[in-house]
Amino acid sequence: MKCPKCGCQDDKVIDSRTSREGDVIRRRRECLNCAHRYTTYEQVEKDALFVMKRDGRREKFDRSKLLKGIEIACQKRPVSTDQIERLVDEIHDVINNEHEREVPSTEVGELLMAKLREIDEVAYVRFASVYRSFRDINEFISEVNNLSQPATGASRS
Ligand SMILES: [Zn+2]
Repeated sequence: MKCPKCGCQDDKVIDSRTSREGDVIRRRRECLNCAHRYTTYEQVEKDALFVMKRDGRREKFDRSKLLKGIEIACQKRPVSTDQIERLVDEIHDVINNEHEREVPSTEVGELLMAKLREIDEVAYVRFASVYRSFRDINEFISEVNNLSQPATGASRS
């Protein structure tokens, strides 16, 4: 496998794990040239899963795009790459099991937010702010307040 950092094609597998459903093998690799660590996935090729966007357009389910979005939300948060990858695996599994070919983008978003919230609330708010593209700042603030205040009896100032 070609190292994403230096391009060297010599690597060693340092960890190999099969997903819970047994349909994805995830390998942690280390470049023998620069010691950079990266992950590769091996899985049976399935018919493409499509995401229906709000405007009605269909887009191929893009695992790396999802991963990237979560990574941005988790910047400087105590969330490991492992956790993020597991999160994407879980979401992908749920979608694959519940949908044949198409999944509404809203469902992907809601699923992701629910799972992200369990891991890190700050990352969740960051992601939510981008995902929902808040119509105005008040919407964003009330979202933050919902997290920092008790669920019931929260006072508004
Ligand atoms: Zn390398």
